[in-house]
Amino acid sequence: MSELGDWRELAPGVFVLVAEPASVNLGLIVGSERALLVDTGSSPAQGRALRAAVSQITDLPLAGVVVTHWHYDHAFGLAAFYDLETIAHETVRERLMHPDAAAEATRLGLAPSDLALPNRELVVMAALDLGGGRRVEIAHLGLGHTDGDLVVVVPDADLLFVGDLLESAGPPSFGDDCYPDEWGTTLDGVIGLMTATTRAIPGHGDPVDRLFAFGQRGEVAGVAGEIRHLVETGVPEAEAVAKGNWPYPEEAIAPAIARGYAALASQGVKGTRPTLPLA
Ligand SMILES: [Zn+2]
Repeated sequence: MSELGDWRELAPGVFVLVAEPASVNLGLIVGSERALLVDTGSSPAQGRALRAAVSQITDLPLAGVVVTHWHYDHAFGLAAFYDLETIAHETVRERLMHPDAAAEATRLGLAPSDLALPNRELVVMAALDLGGGRRVEIAHLGLGHTDGDLVVVVPDADLLFVGDLLESAGPPSFGDDCYPDEWGTTLDGVIGLMTATTRAIPGHGDPVDRLFAFGQRGEVAGVAGEIRHLVETGVPEAEAVAKGNWPYPEEAIAPAIARGYAALASQGVKGTRPTLPLA
């Protein structure tokens, strides 16, 4: 049961397929000497099927795989690539070793031992040469959907993979490990890598352009601003969903509110106006 869709060529030598059950976009970037995968699918079996599907496109060796973040649909296929370079942000290893990841694996019918760890950790940036002038840049631009989101830029194809920092299949996914307050700024970094013609491939949904990214950046920052406003005007967390103005449905917003309230509380932000000390 591979549940992999067909490869679609988005630009010469850049492909994407959709894998179920999460409808996640998995990428393949082909140079003249090697190829690189973006994300691994939801299980070792899906990772193996993905690896096998590369042969539908190219006989070139795989240089490795980049994991855009630790969530199951992107990272739980890692075990299929143990003999290759597996690149992820430095936080991903710890996330995958956490009991929460083991619990998630169990929920999905996997054994915790099915989870493999990335073998190359990235802090800020790396570049890979796939041959034929195809150089791929991999960057961590800050906190957002998780604490370890990577973007994979293919400059010669005017295209980038953005993981779940952007989403076009639905609202951006605010989970209990997201950073609402920083996400907008991180998207400024993503937008800074785009031109008017660049396409961004989200983790879920069709490719989007810079105008879409501007819009979603505004909505995400708006959510963070609304949370701060509610906290500073003394609205209890339990009433925040009902009292706030939100660009997304309640179920998408609730985890953002929980994360946002907790973050602001830890910074000492309360429902009183800060006063200047007397000179
Ligand atoms: Zn995710």
